[in-house]
This record gives sequence, structure tokens and C-alpha cells, in this order.
Amino acid sequence: MILPIYLYGSPVLRKTGKNIGPDYPNLKELIDNMYETMYHANGIGLAAPQVGLDIRLLVIDLAPYKDEDPEMGAFKKVMINPELLETGSKTDSYEEGCLSIPGINESVSRPSKIKIRYFDEAFNEYVEEFEGFRARVILHEYDHIEGVLFTDKISPLRRQLIKSKLDQIARGKFSCSYKVKSPSGVKR
Ligand SMILES: [Zn+2]
Repeated sequence: MILPIYLYGSPVLRKTGKNIGPDYPNLKELIDNMYETMYHANGIGLAAPQVGLDIRLLVIDLAPYKDEDPEMGAFKKVMINPELLETGSKTDSYEEGCLSIPGINESVSRPSKIKIRYFDEAFNEYVEEFEGFRARVILHEYDHIEGVLFTDKISPLRRQLIKSKLDQIARGKFSCSYKVKSPSGVKR
């Protein structure tokens, strides 16, 4: 089932997500729905707050990159209760977008290497290191469960330049091709 994606200005996007257990109601169905919602919106990552739930759950699928990099294209993960253990000191910048902030892309500086602990959908625990674009996508989604958006991380000047666009999204004045829920109550 395709779920509405909560937009910039929705209070749930500013909450810190809570850990969940294997007994979380309809967890498998929720994960399936999050993937379906993400694919429908042509996204590569989606975090639970973006579908209105303040829990520590995110899904990623980099399949759109399979032609340019087969290994990256095979990167598909559910991360439950992730905890960032280490970030490298080296950073790089790359343009990001977000399904909760349609029509805005900005360059964001992030650590190029991370170490993270997480559980998969069967609650097996992993501690893994990721680099480059994979680390970036994980960090973007991880930020969501910490109540942080990529627009928080851009320069004050850039933020000033996009402020009116962000205000318009929060007021429901925007266009996008997927189902959303804006804080003004507009549903499409
Ligand atoms: Zn996002």
C-alpha cells in the first residue's frame, strides 16, 4: 500500500525516533509499504517519520544505480534501531534531495565514512562500515530518525535563499507526482 509522505513542516519530521522491538505491530507490512511508497515516488531511501511514525526504521534501495555501478545497485537494506558508532573525519559534498521537501536540491557536506550498528527485519544485529554514496544515503535517512533534515545542514546563505520555497511547501503550495500529507492538511 502506498502511504502519504509527510512534508516539510510536519511535526513528526522533527521528532527523535523511538527504538522498536520484534513485536512492533504489522512490522513486515509496514516495511513492505515503505518500500512501495519509496519506489512509487522514485526515491532511494525512506525513513519512518516520513510516513508519520516516530520510530527508528529506515529503508534504502540503490537499484536505480545498477547500470553505472552493479555493486551499488545491489545495495538494499532495512535498518531497524540504527545507532551511528563512528564517523570519519574526512567529508565530502554532494547534492541531495528529499521526498519530504519536493523540488529542492542542495549540496550537503557529510562524513565520507561511517560505522553503524543496526538490526535487519528479522532482528539480526550488524555492525558495518560504509563509505561514499552509501554512507551518505544512510546518514540522510539516519538524520530523519533524529529529527534532522538536509536543509538544516546547508549554509545560512543557501537556507535564506530557499526559505520562501520551504514556507510554500509547509503551506501546501507545491507540486509533486506522489501522494503526500502536508502540515496544512492538503492531501494529494
Ligand atoms: Zn529525506
